[in-house]
Amino acid sequence: MPTPLTPISPELRRVLELVNTLDFDPPADRLGTLEEARNWLAQSGLPGDLKSEGERERLVALRQAIRPMLEANAGHGDPVQAWAGLEPFAASSPLYVRPGVDPSLSPAGSGLPATIATVLATVYDAARAGTWRRLKLCRESTCAWAFYDESKNGSGTWCSMRVCGNRNKARRRRERSRPTS
Ligand SMILES: [Zn+2]
Repeated sequence: MPTPLTPISPELRRVLELVNTLDFDPPADRLGTLEEARNWLAQSGLPGDLKSEGERERLVALRQAIRPMLEANAGHGDPVQAWAGLEPFAASSPLYVRPGVDPSLSPAGSGLPATIATVLATVYDAARAGTWRRLKLCRESTCAWAFYDESKNGSGTWCSMRVCGNRNKARRRRERSRPTS
């Protein structure tokens, strides 16, 4: 019997939602202004808050550093280089091991460092659990939505086969039927 797929954890879903604060279709950025970013963070389930425009920019930079990692998970780009993009966030986001029967990584600071540390701890946990590789960016370039690949063998490439997969197939059909004069 095939092993059941691990569903996305609430923590990993928060990372997914952070990436999807940027939408291309139609274009929208929920972290676009300090007020918007504060509101988003307050309802995100992530700890911490934003004190300045500089901190908003840092949260956006974290999001942009995660995107290439999800591209790499989808088979595009260099995963080593993508992971290196998290390096600038690691040093200033302290974590400690919370002891217990099921020990976990927890943020040691507050404010934005706690937000970033929580995201890093989640990425670490997901990488250990084997679920990180299922977090991907949709292959449809006009979409680029982050999604959790729930296909049995983890080979999904579109956020939703019904929408983007079919959109992609229709375009390829159009391209094939175009006269080649
Ligand atoms: Zn898509």
